Amino acid sequence: MRICMIGTGYVGLVAGAGLADFGNEVTCYDKDSERIKFLMRGGIPIYEIGLGDLMRRNVQKGRLRFSADLKSAVNSSRVVFLAVGTPEGNNGEPDLSDLFEICSEIGRLINDYKVIAIKSTVPVGTYEIIRRRIAENARAAFDIVSNPEFLREGSAVQDFLLPNRIVLGVQSERAAETMREVYRGLYLIETPMVITDNATAEMIKYAANCFLATKISFINEVARLCDHLGADVVTVAKAIGMDGRIGPKFLHPSPGFGGSCLVKDLAGFVSMFEKAGIEPQIPRAVQSINSAQRDLVIIKVKELLGDMRGKRATILGLSFKSNTDDVRNSAALYVVEKLLEEGTEITGYDPAAMDNFKNHFPGITYAENAYAACRDADIAIIMTEWNEFRELDLKVLKTAMRGDALLDPRNIYHPSDARKAGFRYAGFGRG
Ligand code: NAD
Repeated sequence: MRICMIGTGYVGLVAGAGLADFGNEVTCYDKDSERIKFLMRGGIPIYEIGLGDLMRRNVQKGRLRFSADLKSAVNSSRVVFLAVGTPEGNNGEPDLSDLFEICSEIGRLINDYKVIAIKSTVPVGTYEIIRRRIAENARAAFDIVSNPEFLREGSAVQDFLLPNRIVLGVQSERAAETMREVYRGLYLIETPMVITDNATAEMIKYAANCFLATKISFINEVARLCDHLGADVVTVAKAIGMDGRIGPKFLHPSPGFGGSCLVKDLAGFVSMFEKAGIEPQIPRAVQSINSAQRDLVIIKVKELLGDMRGKRATILGLSFKSNTDDVRNSAALYVVEKLLEEGTEITGYDPAAMDNFKNHFPGITYAENAYAACRDADIAIIMTEWNEFRELDLKVLKTAMRGDALLDPRNIYHPSDARKAGFRYAGFGRG
């Protein structure tokens, strides 16, 4: 199947390369022409494990290419995927202006039957606005398919190649048949396909993300109670996760979820409830618990060190989670801002996200590894659960520092190990 992928961000690039790997012929287009030139030279613009190999393999086989020519990319394709960004806009609603802009352009280019597959996360009902936008100019028939994406940054390639399910919101059997062909590689290995209407497919994406966010906020709230009552949240989470009805994933206390999806999609969900005149009780509670988690980092820093003026803090991990260079809505952004306001000197280190973080905070110090980052620090704060932070020699780290405080909001160390190394240690919910 000939496919055009519009948008070459975290979703578009992985999905484009993944669909090529399933045997489709994929042309990726982006309005950022510099990005397309970079991709054409063999550059990989984002950090994502396995993406480079996947892209190179498919470019070599002639199944994956990049183009700044929208007309020929659309004309030569049967399926046009929309994977442009839908960032948070006003009143929590996503800003769909990029999406609508490209839909008007695509409408003018449609010359024979196409399937327009929406991968971007969009509020329920957007498929109909997109259909009307395209229909204004289209000279041939087309179908709109809602095909939300569930990949996670950090394991995006694996998630895309081996998904739990494919969701397809369709209006015609012709469109469903075309999409089955696109995902033939997965169909053959019996990946479940949920084929439904467009509104339901759009709702599935929001309900899934809101549920995941709820799990995170739930365990974060339990962690607060554990701190007060002397229970250990790590053991609590492990034991409740053994119950098949609950499951072990997304039950790790943290400085709150960040990234480009959960925060924005939760806000979008709240706004959909409000427009429908229904009180969004759970999503609102999840939002408020999540923002309180970031403040809890600052509260715990002060419990360990008191007044922060003139103190030195090291932030280990700047991305919103491990295995990505994405800093959108990263809790580290908030923590650094607050500590700077308190007069703290900051040094940061991250295995992949320092360049992106520098766009927000060019003035703080950056180090080349965790030990160098901790030199002469009063406190080390582990904000992201990168594997390399799990394997630190805590005694060496402690010796490098001038202070003895270790704050571990991800609970990657056992409190007794940290104390044995000489630290005054605080985790989240460790009693
Ligand atoms: P991104 O910001 O990384 O990438 C968006 C890309 O779209 C950019 O390269 C941008 O230049 C391009 N673009 C914007 N307007 C364009 C236009 N008019 N024409 C062509 N290209 C255009 O975004 P992302 O993280 O890949 O997310 C894309 C969508 O997928 C969003 O709706 C997001 O909510 C959803 N999603 C993201 C993830 C994730 O983990 N990042 C997971 C599932 C779903």
